[in-house]
Amino acid sequence: MPIKTSIKRASGWLYLNSPQGRRQLCGAGVILMLHRVLADDRSAELPHRNELCVGPRAFEHLLHWIKRHFDCVTLMELLQADAHPNALARPKIALTFDDGWRDNALNAFPLLVQHQVPASIFLSTDFIGSRQRYWWESLGETLWGIYGSALRQRLIEHLERIGRPLPPVLLLNGNEQQRSLALANYLESLKSLSPQDLDTLTDNCPKESLSQALDWQQVRTLEKSGLIRFGPHGASHTTLTGLDDIHLDQELSRSHDALLQGCRQPLPVYCYPNGDHDERVRQRLAAHRYTYALGTSTGIYRGNSDPLALPRIGVSQRTASRPSLLAWRISKGGLA
Ligand SMILES: [Zn+2]
Repeated sequence: MPIKTSIKRASGWLYLNSPQGRRQLCGAGVILMLHRVLADDRSAELPHRNELCVGPRAFEHLLHWIKRHFDCVTLMELLQADAHPNALARPKIALTFDDGWRDNALNAFPLLVQHQVPASIFLSTDFIGSRQRYWWESLGETLWGIYGSALRQRLIEHLERIGRPLPPVLLLNGNEQQRSLALANYLESLKSLSPQDLDTLTDNCPKESLSQALDWQQVRTLEKSGLIRFGPHGASHTTLTGLDDIHLDQELSRSHDALLQGCRQPLPVYCYPNGDHDERVRQRLAAHRYTYALGTSTGIYRGNSDPLALPRIGVSQRTASRPSLLAWRISKGGLA
């Protein structure tokens, strides 16, 4: 293990186990941000999946760890907690999942039930129960070759035609880790394309890469358990700051209405797609009667945080399987 990682892990451990660290967390809350829980850990470990995916073993390891160090509460309990709790109270932690992946129901939910840990899932509502696909998933997995080499080649040629050739390392049959890392960086670079271009690219992916989103039946089943609540994460997952006023209002209304239709008790919490927001977006959100909103900036929650720009701590396969690294990230957020 690199020495830097060992130091981070040791200081993370110390943070949660020292009086000084505990003092900093007193009255604070940690909101964890997850996306997907895959069926196996091996595939979640590849760099192009690592940030957004965890495997079931790592996820269960994470659940054990948070139960040992925190009070696992619902997001609303965390947000509405007493700002001046008993100094001996354990810090609170709440789990959130972005996008609304089907694997949240298949792989995460059974473990959440088993360990009785509540969670909130934020849905990009156009995707729920539809055949629409997330571009980074469709492109990433097609380029990784899981739908075969002919379909992969067709997409590569299309990308060349629009001036986005693949880096050479991705075209070779070399080291799996290196190729996966190059793919992660390449997908990141595609974020600069327009939503229309990304839609066209997704249409060039094979039909096999069907939407992997939850459907409304699954949403209702999860909600009925009493352990899971749902909130909006945009309708189309478009970055809200890039929309004009009219389209911004449409996006907010459409996602709000879909949640009202599909759930019994949607959360009064919005979750910004890609974490992007600005003054105008926050004002429109307040006008749509949202009192809280989650971003992607790293930090821990305190009563005085801006309720429409709440920080979170992202969880990856790497940090879920080594939670002392997560403690290190929490300690950094605590200092902010
Ligand atoms: Zn998202």
